[in-house]
Amino acid sequence: MEDLFKLDEQYSQEELLIRETVRRFVDDKVTPLMEQAYEAGEFPTSLITDVAALGLLGMTLPAQYGGSEASYISYGLACQELERGDSGLRSFVSVQNSLCMYPIFQFGSDQQKDNFLKKMARAELIGCFGLTEPDSGSDPASMKTTAKKVEGGWQLNGSKLWITNATIADLAIVWARTDNGVRGFIVEKDFQGFSSNEIKHKLSLRASVTGELVFENCFVPDANLLPGSDIGLKAPLSCLSEARYGIAWGAIGAAMACYELTLDYAKTRKQFAKPIASFQLIQADFADMLTEITKAQCLNLQLGKLKQTDSASPVMISLAKRNACREAIKIARQARNILGANGISLEYHVIRHMNNLESVLTYEGTDNIHTLVLGKHITGINAFE
Ligand SMILES: Cc1cc2nc3c(=O)[nH]c(=O)nc-3n(C[C@H](O)[C@H](O)[C@H](O)COP(=O)(O)OP(=O)(O)OC[C@H]3O[C@@H](n4cnc5c(N)ncnc54)[C@H](O)[C@@H]3O)c2cc1C
Repeated sequence: MEDLFKLDEQYSQEELLIRETVRRFVDDKVTPLMEQAYEAGEFPTSLITDVAALGLLGMTLPAQYGGSEASYISYGLACQELERGDSGLRSFVSVQNSLCMYPIFQFGSDQQKDNFLKKMARAELIGCFGLTEPDSGSDPASMKTTAKKVEGGWQLNGSKLWITNATIADLAIVWARTDNGVRGFIVEKDFQGFSSNEIKHKLSLRASVTGELVFENCFVPDANLLPGSDIGLKAPLSCLSEARYGIAWGAIGAAMACYELTLDYAKTRKQFAKPIASFQLIQADFADMLTEITKAQCLNLQLGKLKQTDSASPVMISLAKRNACREAIKIARQARNILGANGISLEYHVIRHMNNLESVLTYEGTDNIHTLVLGKHITGINAFE
């Protein structure tokens, strides 16, 4: 779409190349699949090897671990382009990168890094991340899943709900309460006492696998405890910060798709013998959409620069995630309205983006939670409880 503020001049050649490569992949291979995948309620798993081949798994990690050593802006641009296709595919990539490979890289032993990361970068192993539980969502400190120390390992009991990739994952990064606080574990799919079930009948993120993880006296060997996760909840929260960074870019990708699709439509759709794009009220919608997309892109770019030098704070990331999700869903709803009746058809893609964004607004910290993060930062007063 139009680059009114010449942001492209701010990106490196490599970043632009990555964006164009992912954009072409999405236009050629992703978008054409999504209508059918969404209707069927199936994640197109054929795309997994494609995203691995493009180097999008472990993008910012060192080559030693199968990573692409790309900049955080490149990662953000990849998320933006993937979500132009569908939030489900971007969610898959976010989970593998930020919620699974990142904690192994950040908190794992050398052995764990060697065992898992290269295979995850090649998509030979798929991960999922279990933090949310049936009774513990916005308040992860209330988690009930326990890990009890036993000889040679740990015994896990409890369950995790609303977990992306749950039933296609080869391993789960699971957060459980121990006598010494919350710790992270790598639970492999064939461990005894571990099972997963898919959640059906979703009307959002239909082309993404979401499910439940169940632990019934599940034995996890000592070798699968993440040794660096001895900082309690700070460990999973740092993973969420990584993922929220990608979501800030991704949600705007969905908004860009809605804007582009609808602009073409409005220029050709005629009512009252004129293209609907000629009406002032419709133009006002487009003016709002372009303004909010551009503002969010500027914010993401600056956030990416800060992230690259490790100076992006969780508050900055909360602000960007909250802004991107709020504005993207507003833009999707405006676009849906401009399409009239066609707006509710999957053929026009916008309703799919709009419904997907309902999940993106909720996961990785709801709008309310990010509002409270900002409120606490601004006032110094914690209003969570
Ligand atoms: C499609 C999908 C995929 C997901 N994937 C994953 C995953 O891979 N891994 C994972 O661990 N989780 C995942 N989640 C879970 C997600 O992170 C949680 O749904 C989210 O954190 C919110 O928790 P909750 O649904 O329990 O809502 P609740 O925490 O029960 O919140 C319900 C409402 O109350 C509001 N609320 C709660 N506390 C406060 C407060 N203090 N002040 C004001 N308002 C408040 C919330 O903002 C929300 O509007 C996924 C969710 C979805 C929908």
